[in-house]
Amino acid sequence: MTATLLDGKAVAKDIRDELEARVTNVVQRLGRPPALAIVLVGDDPASEVYVRNKLKTAEDAGMGVNLERLPGSSSLAAVLAVVDRINKDPKYDGILVQSPLPKTLGADAEQRVFDAIDPGKDVDGFSPVSAGRVSQNREGFAPCTPAGVIELLVRTKTPIEGKHAVVIGRSDIVGKPMAALLLHKNATVTICHSRTRDLPAMARTADILVAAIGRPAFVTPDFVKPGAVVIDVGINSVTSAEEAKRIFARYPERLQVFQKRGSVLVGDVHPDVAETAGALTPVPGGVGPLTIALLMANTVRAAELRLR
Ligand code: NDP
Repeated sequence: MTATLLDGKAVAKDIRDELEARVTNVVQRLGRPPALAIVLVGDDPASEVYVRNKLKTAEDAGMGVNLERLPGSSSLAAVLAVVDRINKDPKYDGILVQSPLPKTLGADAEQRVFDAIDPGKDVDGFSPVSAGRVSQNREGFAPCTPAGVIELLVRTKTPIEGKHAVVIGRSDIVGKPMAALLLHKNATVTICHSRTRDLPAMARTADILVAAIGRPAFVTPDFVKPGAVVIDVGINSVTSAEEAKRIFARYPERLQVFQKRGSVLVGDVHPDVAETAGALTPVPGGVGPLTIALLMANTVRAAELRLR
């Protein structure tokens, strides 16, 4: 079997195109476009790339966007002070603090920062208020990655109701909200993690398998029921030539990417899974673009909520 590729890039474009008229409506009624403030602490290279993509996508969509940079040596109090200022600033509808924060800020820094974000501006959906609303299936901001996965499934007419969904990963920003959103779509949901026994056997019971683990090519064909829908959330940069060769031995075009750039992106799902799955999201071009599109959609909605 060769899996159908679920084209996240195309679905993300549809979502962004649909936002155009809503952005125009906000401009007319609010006198300015929907506006997002992004806070970036330190200089993590992956975060730099993510933030650059978010800035460009927001600008291309005619939205207001501002980057607040803080040095990696900043104190947690300094980061919280910036969040507080943006919370109170009527120029902004949304606020996003790029994760991960530098480790020097302390183990509970992210939680304390997410606690501080005004739930009305929490377009990343990471605050405990947003998490509670998602859990209770109430109106609010769902985290962009799992919300993007749901959009992809719905817009590609992939049946969810009555299906068995297995989510590998239980993080607060991907795994848990993913499980909740699938449950609200009437899937029967199992959440797996690093302590799950016989993970491949558990994964093989899935009609919809979501991998949100953070380990390159971890999900191999023996995890996948023939014909299953496989959603690869992972974005891992492989920088070892040996590892790239091991994963992409049968995919010369991907090895060429490695040879050209010295690194290659790989999901949590091994490329060979395309021969077992019925449908699969590619990396890159799958879940990543949807995450950014949903961030834009959440920001437009935050602006619209002000107009109510
Ligand atoms: P976390 O590190 O927060 O969570 C990883 C989860 O995977 C944990 O629940 C962990 O289990 C589980 N896990 C780790 N190792 C194993 C294992 N050997 N067997 C079973 N489960 C395991 O990661 P995130 O949820 O933040 O992100 C997951 C992936 O998604 C990453 O690759 C990240 O880069 C990517 N990502 C992609 C986005 C996109 O836009 N496409 C957006 C956000 C993330 P336990 O809890 O037991 O430790």
